[in-house]
Amino acid sequence: MSQPQDRIIRGDIEVIRLVDGTFRVDGGAMFGVVPRTLWAKRAAPDRENRITLALNCFLVRTPRATLLLDTGVGPNLDRRYADFYSFERDPGLFGLLAGLGLGPGDIDHVVNSHLHFDHCGGNTLRTAEGRWAPAFPRARYVVQRGEWEQALHPVERDKPSYIPARLKALAEGDRLSLLDGDGPIAPGVEAVLVPGHTAFHQGVKVSSGGKTFFYLADAVPTAAHIDLPYIMSFDLYPVETYNNKKTMLERAADEGWVLGFGHDVSHPFGSLRRSGRRLEFTASAGAEND
Ligand SMILES: [Zn+2]
Repeated sequence: MSQPQDRIIRGDIEVIRLVDGTFRVDGGAMFGVVPRTLWAKRAAPDRENRITLALNCFLVRTPRATLLLDTGVGPNLDRRYADFYSFERDPGLFGLLAGLGLGPGDIDHVVNSHLHFDHCGGNTLRTAEGRWAPAFPRARYVVQRGEWEQALHPVERDKPSYIPARLKALAEGDRLSLLDGDGPIAPGVEAVLVPGHTAFHQGVKVSSGGKTFFYLADAVPTAAHIDLPYIMSFDLYPVETYNNKKTMLERAADEGWVLGFGHDVSHPFGSLRRSGRRLEFTASAGAEND
């Protein structure tokens, strides 16, 4: 089911991309101030000017813990959203986990980069009684405290991005680990703030044997967003995105990180190399790319 480019090994840690589905978003909104004549060369738009994006989730298996980074849009999406964004999600995150022989009870930590509906939709599931319950019965759910507060009480501008009713069940069941900035999640796994898309958007750094995987989530949603001006118009603080992206990508090139992108359909993983003033991208070919 999964392709060779969907899996990498870093030291004794395995990272697998699980696609919860695909959806379509206006290409102009995805690339902000960059003109269509430039971005259309990297991401071909359809007749309605939309480009196809993936809902990438990353399964991280360390010798000590199994983690899931983001949970896609989830199976209980409102019809209004499903039609507007043309979501296609078969088999979806839970189907792909089952294909690996994993059930929801095997996940120790669910880490959300942020709580926009396309990154935490699988956190909870609707029960037969119509209530919301944690989808991963044993997991701690790890998110920045500031992001949690923003998601539960969104300001008017943010209301279309958050669905607080689906998240409340996590607080009621005492399932949350709320972080205040950078910090450890599990041995070899740490949260790193990369603000800009939202005020408390976080990345996840996974390290083993001197090798690093870094999940950039929506700071750099696809490989087409590596050049610094390519920033989504959804970002609330684009200047912060620009500066944080620059810092993280230069580090990634200098320290040989493998990067994971939140929405890239064909390049879930890749690395960077300095080439003059530019950073050159190479997609990871598979597990051998250690
Ligand atoms: Zn996103």
